[in-house]
Amino acid sequence: MQLPSAEIEGYVPFPDDRAESYIEDGYWKEQPFHAVLDERAERHPDRTALVGPDRELSYAELAANSERIAASLQRETSLERLDRVVFQLPNTVEFIEAFFACSRLGVVPVMLLPRHRESEARHVIELTDAKAFFTTGSRYDLGFDFVEFVDDFADEYQDLERLVAVAGAGQQLPEHWTAFDALRSASDPEDLSPVDVNPSDPGVMLLSGGTTGLPKGIPRTHNDYVFQWGQMADAVGVEDDWIGFPSVPIGHNASLCCVVGSAFWAGATVAVEPVLKPDRLMQLIEDVGGTYSLPVPTQLVDILEHPDRESYDLSSLETLISGGQKVPPRVVYELVDEYDIGFCNIFGMAEGPLICTRPDDDVDTQANTVGRPIAPDADEVRIVGTDRQTAVDRGEQGELSVRGPGYFTGYFRTPEENAENFDDDGWFYTEDVLSVDDDGNYRVHGRIKETIIRGGENIYAPDLEDVIIEHEAIENVAVIGMPDERLGERPAAFVELRENADEVTLEDLQSYLSDRGIAVFKRPERLDVVDELPRTEVGKIAKVNLEERITEELKREGKLPDGY
Ligand code: AMP
Repeated sequence: MQLPSAEIEGYVPFPDDRAESYIEDGYWKEQPFHAVLDERAERHPDRTALVGPDRELSYAELAANSERIAASLQRETSLERLDRVVFQLPNTVEFIEAFFACSRLGVVPVMLLPRHRESEARHVIELTDAKAFFTTGSRYDLGFDFVEFVDDFADEYQDLERLVAVAGAGQQLPEHWTAFDALRSASDPEDLSPVDVNPSDPGVMLLSGGTTGLPKGIPRTHNDYVFQWGQMADAVGVEDDWIGFPSVPIGHNASLCCVVGSAFWAGATVAVEPVLKPDRLMQLIEDVGGTYSLPVPTQLVDILEHPDRESYDLSSLETLISGGQKVPPRVVYELVDEYDIGFCNIFGMAEGPLICTRPDDDVDTQANTVGRPIAPDADEVRIVGTDRQTAVDRGEQGELSVRGPGYFTGYFRTPEENAENFDDDGWFYTEDVLSVDDDGNYRVHGRIKETIIRGGENIYAPDLEDVIIEHEAIENVAVIGMPDERLGERPAAFVELRENADEVTLEDLQSYLSDRGIAVFKRPERLDVVDELPRTEVGKIAKVNLEERITEELKREGKLPDGY
């Protein structure tokens, strides 16, 4: 039994007694990420593990390639167990090769996303004392020169000793850069001196969603993460002949755990497409026979509304998982009806909580709830009141609090945040408001901070959004609290209209909400119709931008004094 051993300043390990019980109970398999891959490669070496735009790898090839890359890094760099390496890679074969190479060395990849820019990149390099940076050169065209971008500031960081890029054909990288392919070709699998990787130590560092401020580091151990790969594969019913395809960046938990991890766990295939636009994803499904994925709700809406949707053959789809933000119920009904798929409506956090409906639940459950925790026996899940102690009654709303073998144990080097969100017994308080129905299915009502407090009355923005999105002219909506001198906050709605829909005025919206029985104090008091709502790196609506925008507008209109 390998109990946690990592001593990294600012990292909170699992306490020994909990780690011990998770191993004894069989939740933790004591396998680092690459051991999962190696076991599958041993069992069925020739099965396809990865399909990329131009490359395809069997399980045996993927395992060998990751050994080659690890061997080169071992020989050519000072990288050691538990050192951090930043990944800013699109969804490519190279991402996965590098991920397993890091695992073999016990090195921790940090999941910067392709849409992150200088402030996030610098912050993450500094936060983690990163020693290397992996990005893409011109092989994949994402309309942005990542090499130039990183090269501009990398020399300011002494510890950042190695810059690696997936170079395009004939691309000349700056002198001090290493081509990814060269790492792979410079060594043989036998060149790797095995490293004793402790699966109870961190194996990957995810980043918290960027709706507020700079991202926080979320270290996940091999053990707790692999446990969730397995639980997710079971919840979704992934079969070994399935083809999972990430729809959001692989560096996001939604792809890394729920699609890539679950697929490798099940010995299935992962198909990658670097450009995550609806037509490219639909083409990928058609080309490879894609079976399951986790797109965010906006991507589902974009697919449903796509003018050429009918021209793609999406009949291979078995199950769609979606969440990360509220999935509009009508989207679930439409998709299930049209494609005859299972739908896993998921509440997920990079910190660990995964609660989802199962593919064979009835469609009402799939459309209106987020189902049950993925590991009902192992996950300790409570909904508590504002004292964070007392469990609320069934059906009542409260804060989701969790502890268990698949959850993180603390943000990296952020003690204040940990003091605020963990108690002495290791329970993590998510700041998300949920409730549980009598039949055990959970419902999401929004973040505590998304509660608009209007003159002392609480309004949960997502509950209101659920009703507004049902309006026939409205495609997408975000309700936020606009600052108000007298009442503190008042609700305001930003909406995108459906194509060819009639204009909607504030009066229309208010009378629609009145017809739907929504209390007067909850009805938006301002409506902005926009062409497009601002999005985060993974396509969630970035409410913080809207809050800033409206504050500025109110000031300009003289409705808000300075100081806000
Ligand atoms: P991330 O940091 O990107 O993993 O985002 C996690 C957050 O997304 C959660 O804390 C929730 O606030 C939100 N979220 C995730 N799933 C859902 C869902 N199904 N409905 C509403 N909000 C969700």
